[in-house]
Amino acid sequence: MVMEELSVQQLADGLDSGQFSSVELVRHFLHRMQAHRHLNAFISELHDRAVMQAGHADRQIRERKHGPLTGVPLAHKDIFCMSGERTSCGSKMLDNFIAPYHATVVQKLEQAGCVVLGKTNMDEFAMGSSSENSYYGPVRNPWNAECVPGGSSGGSAAAVAARLVPLATGTDTGGSIRQPAAFCGVTGLKPTYGRISRYGMVAYASSLDQAGPFGKSAQDCAYLLQAMAGFDEKDSTSVDAPVPAYLAELNRPLQGKVVGIPDEYFSTGLGSEVRTIIARAIDWAEEQGCIIKDISLPNTELAIPAYYVIATAECSSNLSRYDGVRFGHRCEDPKDLHDLYHRSRSEGFGTEVKRRIMIGTYALSTGYYDAYYLKAQQVRRLISADFNAAFQDVDFILGPTAPETAFRIGEKTDDPVTMYLSDIYTISINLAGLPAISIPCGIHEGLPVGMQLIGNYFAEDKLLNFAHQYQLATDWHQQCPPGFQQKRQGC
Ligand code: GLN
Repeated sequence: MVMEELSVQQLADGLDSGQFSSVELVRHFLHRMQAHRHLNAFISELHDRAVMQAGHADRQIRERKHGPLTGVPLAHKDIFCMSGERTSCGSKMLDNFIAPYHATVVQKLEQAGCVVLGKTNMDEFAMGSSSENSYYGPVRNPWNAECVPGGSSGGSAAAVAARLVPLATGTDTGGSIRQPAAFCGVTGLKPTYGRISRYGMVAYASSLDQAGPFGKSAQDCAYLLQAMAGFDEKDSTSVDAPVPAYLAELNRPLQGKVVGIPDEYFSTGLGSEVRTIIARAIDWAEEQGCIIKDISLPNTELAIPAYYVIATAECSSNLSRYDGVRFGHRCEDPKDLHDLYHRSRSEGFGTEVKRRIMIGTYALSTGYYDAYYLKAQQVRRLISADFNAAFQDVDFILGPTAPETAFRIGEKTDDPVTMYLSDIYTISINLAGLPAISIPCGIHEGLPVGMQLIGNYFAEDKLLNFAHQYQLATDWHQQCPPGFQQKRQGC
């Protein structure tokens, strides 16, 4: 089998048994990255650094001081600070920013021995659903280069789908791991809020942001999540709870599990082909002995308006730090301090980021705070209550990840509200802080369809278990976009 099709388990076994070295593996993937630059999946390629890190991993393996991820290649979304490397967050504002420290996620994965091949392209400050809002240009979907890969972690999803890298990190504030995973036909997990440290992850909306893994399969994601998860004293919202052994949970039978199907996720707005494909996945769950139960999440339609008040309010505050003084873009020859702020921010931020800062500032301003921000927080509580009630009766909630398959580049850029609707099924999960996974479950007209499985707090192990069982029975996750299979180099 060709190297890029190997699972993380197979990569670990191959490295451990000396079938190939990390340097060979890394060179193979770096070569693929170069060969497929037209996807624009990467903002930075870290060739020299990667080869050096791989050499170090090979020494560790020879000395038998290695773990399962030692020497395994990986990409980080360019939202994670990486010491000595540019961390742009897809923005002109941070184009010249060299991070002075590692994010905890970067640190942990370095300790686990992963080799970082590059930093992936993304919507500016993670604001978007298509990866078109990047200062570095749009990312292309490997399944159809005229289509978006989803967003904001579109670079990571596209890179894994095109087999440019076996694993990648992402972040999800309202769907930015799950929706691009669905559009690119890969597996992506958004963990419970607090499961993974946010330290060193550029902030968008701090009460919603959460890092998570992308991989070809749930099993691959389990490896990556294991290394990312855990308490961090540097993040006051990280949760001090034991991290289960995710791989050990993958093989539990699903017999008797109750799967809730929310009425609201199958109402108007859902494409009929996506509906049919999700229905097949529900039938599969029933064949496994799951109990299928109709449920209701009555406040679903309020999720997008509530999110776009809360997320914009938080971003307007978080992004106030980019003032041209301490770091980031600074305008030429400022006349005075006000001019420095004004022009540095006007020049450094893109249109969507400016739009959100303005909405958020407005929502938080005196006289409007109660009407917008406070109301949105109350709605957020209602949405959490819907999920709490549902999880009294069910183990999982299953539905589509997105209402349609990947749309065309440029199709929604002039209409932000239509763009915001791409996250209709994912956003409420962030408002409630719950974990959810997107798994490939079909292909329609050459584009992948993803199903979303939502779990109760800290039920990442159960989500991975369900997804793994589904992937043992189906091969949607093994489908490689046409043109990206490379038969040249065996291993
Ligand atoms: N599309 C949503 C937004 O633009 C979610 C983005 C994300 O999860 N980072 O806010």
